[in-house]
Amino acid sequence: MTPSAVRRAPHAPSLIGDADLPPARHFIDGTFVEGSTDRVIDVVDPCTEKIIARIPEGTAEDIDRAVGAARKAKAEWARHVPKERSELLHALADRVAEHADLLSRLESANTGKPLAVSRDDVAMTVDTFRFMAGAVRATTSMAAGDYAENHLSLILREPLGVIGVVTPWNYPLLMAAWKIAPILAAGNTLVLKPSEQTPLTTLKFAELVTDLLPSGVLNIVNGYGATAGARLAEHPDVDMIALTGSVASGRAVARAAAESLKRVHLELGGKAPVVIFPDADLAAAASGLRVAGFWNSGQECDAACRVLVHESVAERFVEQLVDEVRALVVGEPTCGEDVEVGPMVSKAHFDRVCGYLERAKKDGVRVATGGEALDGPGYFIAPTVLTDVSEGAEVAREEIFGPVITVETFADEEEAVRRANDVPLGLSASVWTENARLSHDIPARLDFGTVWVNSHLVLAGEVPWGGFKGSGYGRDLSIYALDDYSRTKHVMHNHGC
Ligand code: NAD
Repeated sequence: MTPSAVRRAPHAPSLIGDADLPPARHFIDGTFVEGSTDRVIDVVDPCTEKIIARIPEGTAEDIDRAVGAARKAKAEWARHVPKERSELLHALADRVAEHADLLSRLESANTGKPLAVSRDDVAMTVDTFRFMAGAVRATTSMAAGDYAENHLSLILREPLGVIGVVTPWNYPLLMAAWKIAPILAAGNTLVLKPSEQTPLTTLKFAELVTDLLPSGVLNIVNGYGATAGARLAEHPDVDMIALTGSVASGRAVARAAAESLKRVHLELGGKAPVVIFPDADLAAAASGLRVAGFWNSGQECDAACRVLVHESVAERFVEQLVDEVRALVVGEPTCGEDVEVGPMVSKAHFDRVCGYLERAKKDGVRVATGGEALDGPGYFIAPTVLTDVSEGAEVAREEIFGPVITVETFADEEEAVRRANDVPLGLSASVWTENARLSHDIPARLDFGTVWVNSHLVLAGEVPWGGFKGSGYGRDLSIYALDDYSRTKHVMHNHGC
């Protein structure tokens, strides 16, 4: 039960130098600008606990200035035909691809992510821009024609206007790209507030593409959620607010948006059940969960974090899972390509995850491996498997967002479905079985926006991403995101008189 040690490389060159950092300012109307106050927010490396940058703390005044720039730019940007918007998105993709190494190092320095994870984030960022560049030229809708006698109907797809975007710390650049690409493709302009903890790659992106973007089309204001984020959500000149973050922030944004009745797009938390039937390939499930449960150190809204395994194979499966989890390499991103798990993003989040582990142990949950923090500096927690988890236990219902998998058992299909659905969140789930009937029937009965069969965590730009229930509404990726950031208008011509 000894937790793995943190692999460190005290003499390795640092991931980034001063020249790699973006300007520590807001990006408004095509240029980096000072904020309205001198207050700053420390940006911390979670492996060393050292401050790596200080960014301005944006205010309502800074948000208002950025919204003004986005409004000024919107008519001109909306006039561009899809081909022109598509060309810009391809140019953004090319620019990110040219600087993939820099952006990956910067992301790892700010979040502590293994480099393999940051590289994957950057590759998917490029793919997101490329997909939206293609999709916007190939959108379809209802055929124009007469649906009432002598009346020709045309359906126009229009941009919404100015979109406010708020992003989280777990995939800073990628979550920004999931919004920026469809929002620009659909002809909108935007103001984006990155997480106060991880603004560096979003600001670097703006720096890298400044010469490509028309002024005011993309604006970035740093700052806290309760001030800068809240102003964006309530702003009367913002036509829609899109947030990726926690359920609590989603609620706050939806409440603030209600006053102006602006549209709301929410990608919130997850608590993904992994339902393993007795006929499943247990070895494949265990090795799949080694990745899907611990990718990005479990700070992942669709992490495979809640196993429900049939009681007849539970013991065998837990043994195989524990073997996989004990073999995980925990370390700093500078310590080699084989590092799989990094630190929690911040001291506050580390304390939160440790709190869940402490309470679970007190409640009689068994620690099969891990279960505690690893020696500092840094916010590392041992990859953990918890068993003997009873129905309704806190660790099985709430989003822990750390390197922790819980294991519960079930006796039959009915119980599996009932317990899998018995969480307030509905983002994603997986089902592991070789049985053809179960592989269709169980996903159909699960209340989650994505259900994988014999897999978990695989995403593609062509398919929609988003949740049900407490996980929010609206879809990222795919043509569904383009729809979400557009409005349809019906124009009807009387040609019979
Ligand atoms: P968070 O809610 O604490 O912060 C997210 C963003 O919201 C930050 O930029 C924050 O400043 C801002 N914010 C906070 N309060 C706000 C308010 N009142 N008004 C406006 N903005 C506000 O979330 P986090 O801790 O950064 O990210 C982790 C959460 O994000 C997890 O719950 C995770 O599941 C979720 N997430 C979901 C998806 C998805 O696709 N569904 C993807 C990534 C992360």
